[in-house]
Amino acid sequence: MSGYPHLFAPLDLGFTTLKNRVLMGSMHTGLEETRDWNRVAEFYAERARGGVALMVTGGMAPNAEGGVFPGAAGLFNDRDIANHKVVTDRVHAADGKIAMQILHAGRYAYSKDCVAPSAVKSPISPFAPRALDAIGIEKQIADMVTAATRAKQAGYDGVEVMGSEGYFLNQFLVTHTNRRDDDWGGSYENRMRLPVEVVRRVRAAVGPEFIIIYRLSMIDLIPNGSTWDEVVLLAKAIEGAGATILNTGIGWHEARIPTIATSVPRRAFTWVTKKLMGEVGIPIITSNRINTPQVGEDVLAEGCADMVSMARPFLADPHFVAKAMAGKAPLIVPCIACNQACLDHTFSMKIASCLVNPMAAHETELVLTPSAKSIGIVGAGPAGLASALAAAQRGMAVTVFDRMNEIGGQLNMAKQVPGKEEFWGLVEYYRTAVAEAGITLRLGHDATADDLAVFDEVIIATGVAPRDPQIDGQDGPNVLSYIDVLRGKAEVGKRVAIIGAGGIGFDVAEFLVTGHSPTENLADWLQEWGVGDPSDMRGGVRAEGPKPAAPLRQITLLQRKAQKLGKGLGKTTGWIHRAALKMKGVEMMGGVNYERIDAQGLHVSFGEARERPTLIAVDTIVLCAGQVPQRALADALGARGIAAHVIGGADVAAELDAKRAIDQGTRLVASL
Ligand code: NAP
Ligand code: SF4
Repeated sequence: MSGYPHLFAPLDLGFTTLKNRVLMGSMHTGLEETRDWNRVAEFYAERARGGVALMVTGGMAPNAEGGVFPGAAGLFNDRDIANHKVVTDRVHAADGKIAMQILHAGRYAYSKDCVAPSAVKSPISPFAPRALDAIGIEKQIADMVTAATRAKQAGYDGVEVMGSEGYFLNQFLVTHTNRRDDDWGGSYENRMRLPVEVVRRVRAAVGPEFIIIYRLSMIDLIPNGSTWDEVVLLAKAIEGAGATILNTGIGWHEARIPTIATSVPRRAFTWVTKKLMGEVGIPIITSNRINTPQVGEDVLAEGCADMVSMARPFLADPHFVAKAMAGKAPLIVPCIACNQACLDHTFSMKIASCLVNPMAAHETELVLTPSAKSIGIVGAGPAGLASALAAAQRGMAVTVFDRMNEIGGQLNMAKQVPGKEEFWGLVEYYRTAVAEAGITLRLGHDATADDLAVFDEVIIATGVAPRDPQIDGQDGPNVLSYIDVLRGKAEVGKRVAIIGAGGIGFDVAEFLVTGHSPTENLADWLQEWGVGDPSDMRGGVRAEGPKPAAPLRQITLLQRKAQKLGKGLGKTTGWIHRAALKMKGVEMMGGVNYERIDAQGLHVSFGEARERPTLIAVDTIVLCAGQVPQRALADALGARGIAAHVIGGADVAAELDAKRAIDQGTRLVASL
C-alpha cells in the first residue's frame, strides 16, 4: 500500500468505478486543433498509462459562436466523432477513463460573433458580445446537448460541463454579466436556470450510465459575484438535474486575484470546496495549486473534497500517480506553476508544453532512443541538468561538471525569491533524479579541455555572467550585483534603486520589498490579495481590497526603455508581478539614462536629450542589467579542436529562461 491511502482509494460512482481519487483537470493544449489524432491520442494515453483515474480534455466548443476562438475544436460532425474515437480507444486500451469538456466561452470568446446573456463587454476581450434572445438561448442548450451525445458516441466516459471561470454558464449566474429581465435573468432562480437546464437535458440525452461533471464556480473573485448561499443552491440544483460529480472552479478569468500562479500558496482554495462538503450527496472535486501526492492526500484526509484535480502536474509528469503509488514521489517531476510553457503558450496560440518536461504534448515528436555513447556536460544549471537526464534516459554514460559545489545554477537564486518557493522542490527533484539515474557528478571542479577530450559528445552549458552596464561610479561601496543580493551575501540599505527591470530586476525587487513570503502563509496571502469568505462577501472579494504587508524597503525599479516595465514578463503572470510590486509601493521608472552613481545615490536623466536631471537618493543600487554568455570554455575547446555543443545562456544570453534552456538541452540530446 502506498503512503497515500485517501488518494488511492477507489471511488464508486454506481455505474462505474474510478480507480483512484485523482482527476487530470482540463487543459487547452492546442493539440486537437492540429488534427493530428495520433498525437492527441498519445498525449492522453501516456497519462492514462501513468495511472490517473479520469482525465478531462481541453474545452471543446459546442458550436461556432461558443468556441474560445474562431476554429476552436469541437465535435461538429461524424468525422470529428471518428477522430475523437482514436483518442478514447487509445485511452481505454491503457486502462484509463476520459471525459470531454464542453466549453462555451460566451463573452470570453475571442470573436466578433460572441454571445452572452447581456451585451456587457469583458475587460479581457476586445469584442462586445451580442445578447441572446430566448430562441438563441434554446439553440445554445441544444448545441451543448448535441456535443454531449456526440461525446458519448465518440467513446468518452463522460463530459464535463464548464460552468465556472467566468465562461458562458457562469455569466448567467451573476448580475455583473446578466442584466436580463426574462426567464433567464432577474432573480437567482432565473439566473441559475440555464446551467441547471443544460445538465438536466444532457442527462436526459445521454442516459444514466455516463459521467457528467459540472464545474461550478465556488468563489468568483469578482465584485458582484455569487454569494455562498447561491453557490449551495446551485450545487443542489445541479445534483438534482443529474450531475455525477461537482468540480471546483476558482475565480473568473477577469479576476485581478491570482489563482494558479506559483506565488499562490499550495492548495490555497481547498477551504472553499470544503464548505460545500455535506451539502450534496454526489462526490466533489477540489482544485488549484495541488502539485504533490502529499498535498493531495492531506486535502482528502482533511475532508476538503472526495477527489483532487491536478492539471499542470500532468504536463510536468504524466506518471505522477504511478510514481506516487510505487513509493517514488521524490522522482515526480514537479510542476512549479510557472505557466511559462503551458498557459503562456496557449495564450500565444502556440501548442502547450511544459518548462520542466518538453516532451509534454510533444510525445510523438520528441523521443529519446537508446544510445551507448559517453557524454560530458559542463554546467549543472537547468540546461545541463535537463541534458544529463535526457542522456541518461537514452542509456548514455553521463558525467556532469560544475565549478560550484551544488547543482541548480540560477535556480538556486530563483528559489530565494518570495513567491518562487517551488524552485526548492525543482532543485531537490534534480538532485534525486541525477542520483537515481547514475549520473557522475563532478562538483567544485572547473572542467578543462583535458577532462572533456575523453567523451564521445560534449555539451557546454556554462550559463551566463552579469552584464557590465558601465555606469560612472558603479564600483562604489553602495553598488551591488543581483548575485550578491539573491545569494544573501550583502547588506542592503532601506532605500534601493534597481537598475534593470527584466525578470531578475523584478525578482530582486520582490526579494527586497517582502519580509515573510505570503506564499508560505495562506492567511497572509488571502489578506494581501483581498480574498475573503464568500459566506461573508459576494464573490469572496473584500470591499476594502488588497491589504499587503508593509514594505521592507523603499524601492525604485528602473529601465532605459520608455515602455511599461515588465512588458517582457510571462503573458499570464506578468500582471501579478507588476501588481504585487505596486501594492508594496515600488516606484517604476522607464525612459531613464543612468548618468552616474555617487554617495548620494543614483543620478538619472530622461529621454534622448538627457533632460530633467534627477537624483534618486538611495542607500544601495543593485545592478540587474541583463546577462552575457559565459563561453570561455567553449572557446578553449574550439582552439583545441574538440567539438562541443553550446546550449542555454552560454549559447544565447538574451531573453534566456529555464524553459528555453531545458528545451534546448533535451532536444539536442535527443538528436545526438
Ligand atoms: P533581461 O530580462 O534581459 O533584462 C535586462 C534588463 O537590464 C532590462 O530591464 C534592460 O532594460 C536592462 N539593461 C540591458 N542592458 C543594460 C545596460 N547596458 N545598462 C543598463 N541596463 C541594461 O535580463 P534579466 O533580468 O537578467 O533576466 C534574464 C534572466 O532572468 C534569465 O536567466 C531568466 O532565467 C531569469 N528570469 C526570468 C523570469 C521570467 O519571468 N521569465 C523571471 C525571473 C528571472 P533597458 O535596456 O530598457 O534598460
Ligand atoms: Fe507547470 Fe510550468 Fe510546466 Fe506549466 S510549464 S506545467 S506551470 S512547470
